[in-house]
Amino acid sequence: MSTTTITSTVATLAVSNIHKSFGGHHVLKGISMTARKGDVISILGASGSGKSTFLRCINMLETPDQGSVCLDGETLEMRQRKDGRLEPVHRKQVERMRSQLAMVFQSFNLWSHMTVLQNLIEGPMRVQKRAHAECVEEAEALLQRVGLFERRDYYPAHLSGGQQQRVAIARALAMRPQVMLFDEPTSALDPELVGEVLKVMRSLAEEGRTMLVVTHEMGFARNVSNRVVFMHQGLVDVEGAPADVFGAHSSERFRQFISGHQERATA
Ligand code: ADP
Ligand code: MG
Repeated sequence: MSTTTITSTVATLAVSNIHKSFGGHHVLKGISMTARKGDVISILGASGSGKSTFLRCINMLETPDQGSVCLDGETLEMRQRKDGRLEPVHRKQVERMRSQLAMVFQSFNLWSHMTVLQNLIEGPMRVQKRAHAECVEEAEALLQRVGLFERRDYYPAHLSGGQQQRVAIARALAMRPQVMLFDEPTSALDPELVGEVLKVMRSLAEEGRTMLVVTHEMGFARNVSNRVVFMHQGLVDVEGAPADVFGAHSSERFRQFISGHQERATA
């Protein structure tokens, strides 16, 4: 997936030295990551290593204790509170930047009282103040794309998990995000439904979208992403091209992680 275009050298997302504690538990201990346009970065790590917290700090669902987030040249402004922790300065900036960092969750998180189509147009209309007709037109095109146009008037409860997750991906796309954040998008799915979601994600990668993907799908990490980051206890343990990270000279810890994973996968 490597490209030689000039845009590939521009950092779309630069996250630097993120720290986060909950009570006395230091979960993120200084994580930095840079994504250039079109990068697909798989974030791997054991349960509890801080992967979700890291994604949540990037789009400000959690406020980091330290560190900075810069999207397309714009740095999120934060100030220090009396207790030394950070808080965002402008609520509006958080909302705007968050809408450019669309997140797809493990548990879909669709609005259950809204139809599929309403789920897609809500954010663009409310947050981005775009016109209804334009939002509907774009939403319908996105539903075609994820193969769910015929289900546009269904409620989420009447869809399978795989269909709900494809709606969630379309909803994220409807915000025209610069970067997409995926937090274990296939982990809640029955095995037979994983493929349809991975197929959509692969197509997004192929069209050059910038994506950060927390996943346990090693096939996706190896074959679709162009960079792999392995987190261990709140730090980046190893990072690089999939061939290197999965290769013989990777970290001992990563090899242990992978072998445990394969045992579980075949168990
Ligand atoms: P991962 O996604 O890698 O499994 P998480 O980021 O969810 O890891 O969690 C990392 C650690 O932070 C865990 O020990 C978890 O219990 C803790 N943690 C996460 N969110 C909170 C929270 N809101 N309050 C307290 N502890 C939390
Ligand atoms: Mg998690």
